[in-house]
Amino acid sequence: MLNQLLLCVILVVIVLAVAVTDRAADHSLLLVATVIVLAGGAATLVVPWARIARAWVYVIPLADIVAIGLARSEQHLLGIELLWAFPVMWMATLGLTAFLTAAALVLVEFGAIIALAGASGSAVSYLLPAAVIVAIGVTSYVSSRRYRAQRVLLDKQTALLSGALSRAQGHEELMTDVLDAVDFGVIRITADGEVSVFNEALGRIQRSIPGFGRLDRPIGDAYAADGVTLIEEPDRPLRRALRGELFENEVIWFGPPDQPRTALSMTARQLRSGDGAPAGCVIVARDVTAELTALRARDRLVSSISHELRTPLTSVLGYIDLAIDHLDRPDDAARDLDVAAKNGERLLEIIADILAASSTSRGSIDLTISPKQIDVAELVQQAAEAWRARAAYTSISIDATDVLPASAWADAARIRQVVDNLVSNAVKYNVDGGSIAVRTSSDGTSTFIDVQDTGVGISAEDQRRLFEQYFRARRDVEGSGLGLSISRDIVRAHGGDITVRSAPGTGSTFTVRLPAQPRGQGDRELHA
Ligand code: ADP
Repeated sequence: MLNQLLLCVILVVIVLAVAVTDRAADHSLLLVATVIVLAGGAATLVVPWARIARAWVYVIPLADIVAIGLARSEQHLLGIELLWAFPVMWMATLGLTAFLTAAALVLVEFGAIIALAGASGSAVSYLLPAAVIVAIGVTSYVSSRRYRAQRVLLDKQTALLSGALSRAQGHEELMTDVLDAVDFGVIRITADGEVSVFNEALGRIQRSIPGFGRLDRPIGDAYAADGVTLIEEPDRPLRRALRGELFENEVIWFGPPDQPRTALSMTARQLRSGDGAPAGCVIVARDVTAELTALRARDRLVSSISHELRTPLTSVLGYIDLAIDHLDRPDDAARDLDVAAKNGERLLEIIADILAASSTSRGSIDLTISPKQIDVAELVQQAAEAWRARAAYTSISIDATDVLPASAWADAARIRQVVDNLVSNAVKYNVDGGSIAVRTSSDGTSTFIDVQDTGVGISAEDQRRLFEQYFRARRDVEGSGLGLSISRDIVRAHGGDITVRSAPGTGSTFTVRLPAQPRGQGDRELHA
């Protein structure tokens, strides 16, 4: 189109020039030629070339060649033949055949015009312009070939590049999908210390530990696997991994010990680029809070079970020893064995409870309490009796004279467990030759069981923590620190409570308060 429009402009200029300078001569051929070229120009603008057969494109340059020949026939327009360069150049870009056709047409037409002109024509006036036009055509043909080759090359390179790009995108999407599907957080830190990859699981971890995986923001306190040793900032896993350290499945607790916290198991690997240079590191973090909590619950379960079994077993063994001592007094021996047998039965009951509880597969011992209207005096008497033999070893007396009938809405087996724990403590933390008094009473609303001892007593500070799981004020006496916490759970599940009054060196009194009457609740679940 540009080629043709340029040709149109030149021809119009020539027509105007001729009209001004040479009015006398006949310029009809020049005008016909200009009209043909202008028509071609118009056609380049209006014809929808993309929709019609490609061969139609040849019509315009061929018509131009003929038109320029017509103009050249006017002898005074010497030199106008150079305009053939335009259609020849155009045809050269369309291929070799087109170029040869155009060149041949020009040479023949030009030859004919020169020949017809007769004397005014000469070999030089033919050969020079013809050679120039053909040379321009050849140059145009060659450069259009080169241009086309470069374009093909460029197209191929573009195709290769877009193929590589889409493969790379595919790999990246696959990697993102895989990383998002796994349940551990992945952090990649580049050699310059920038976080470059992380996945959905890491996002979930960040919801419980804000700022985790970022080096620019301080996160809360971190603790070692034991849950209590504080880890200083430079020893945090991300910092260590950045320094080039490797570690595997290291457990770190985030958050202070007395609050809900998250435990992560972390592994760090160093990365190297193709040439072996350090390329940062990858850190994998797995949330193991639930696993560790389950393990801890299992440990508690085991110690709690052992504690529950040890109490009646101690009594059984004490009474069997006593029976052996009383072999010469069969009546006494029979009574001792009777108490031992009763405690043996209690042991069986507790084991049955534990089995029932563990079949629910929960993390703690879940015991169901089944309250009835009972007389607590009876079970307190039995407990006092059960511990009398063991207490006698250290010359401790158990006084049960104030155990009076007192009705309570309670589960006899569970309350016996509580009284056993209290009496067992009163024996354990007593002094040689000390005494224990057990009492029961009721005011109609609440029923009370007191266990009083003349033992070592408990400081005010220890009294505040006495009912916490695993709390032990005295390390010199064997125990698990679970008895009082289990006892309080049992009593509270009944709707009552346990309190303590104590002074170091004087002794302690534990008071269990239970409802005297039902309050309309059915069975309740107890988490011991
Ligand atoms: P354990 O006796 O197995 O250690 P407990 O939960 O029964 O666990 O008791 C917790 C702590 O309370 C004991 O370690 C002891 O220091 C203190 N304690 C409990 N009962 C008494 C008591 N009658 N006199 C003095 N200290 C006691």
